[in-house]
Amino acid sequence: MGKKPVIGISGSIMIDQGGMFPGYKRAYVNDDYILAIHKNGGIPMMLPLVDDEEVIKEQIKNIDGLLLSGGHDVDPMFYDEEPSQKLGETFPERDIFDMKLIKYALEMKKPIMGVCRGMQMINVYFGGSLYQDLSFIDGCTIKHVQGHTPSLATHTANITEGTKLETILGTNKTLINSFHHLAAKEIGKGLVVSARALDGVVEAIEHESEFVIGTQWHPEMMAQKDEMMKKIFVAFVNECNKK
Ligand code: MN
Repeated sequence: MGKKPVIGISGSIMIDQGGMFPGYKRAYVNDDYILAIHKNGGIPMMLPLVDDEEVIKEQIKNIDGLLLSGGHDVDPMFYDEEPSQKLGETFPERDIFDMKLIKYALEMKKPIMGVCRGMQMINVYFGGSLYQDLSFIDGCTIKHVQGHTPSLATHTANITEGTKLETILGTNKTLINSFHHLAAKEIGKGLVVSARALDGVVEAIEHESEFVIGTQWHPEMMAQKDEMMKKIFVAFVNECNKK
């Protein structure tokens, strides 16, 4: 084992609703991502949202791997659709930031892991599309917005044979949490589906050749207690250490 790898976690912006400065913007990432990285061998580093492409390129140069965090609905303009009435709040500046992070991470051969919206961004980056709401999916009968207890696994995921995810987890079935109302529709070029819920909803994707993996669920919220989910971060951090 060499040095611990530095994992860049994509940041978002939250806006104060009250307090001393209502409307004040703060850059943040959820603490669970930071814990999931540093408890599993990596050095977490937050990548704040910026709009300068040269700065984004430097952000990527300074890390060994990229973790794309969750958040807003992806703006459908990035997969050539009009917004449906069921679309939630979007944040197009962040979509652009995430896509530039992905672009430079791929260019510089740094491993990428995406969670929830992060997985969706990977799919969109590679030319895939999203269902703007689960109600648009035929046969979607499972509760994918569990609405409570972030660390609680509530539904099953079937893992696709022969995928990196199967190798990482060492199983073809696992229990996951679920906090999403969007889902992958067309899968981007070079990507494969690596897990599905029992109603067919895509729960994980990965790249055929590069180390680019995405989960629709939130393993970082489960990894403190769940050995399966811990394995994903251990595998990602180890991969980032190879470069
Ligand atoms: Mn789900």
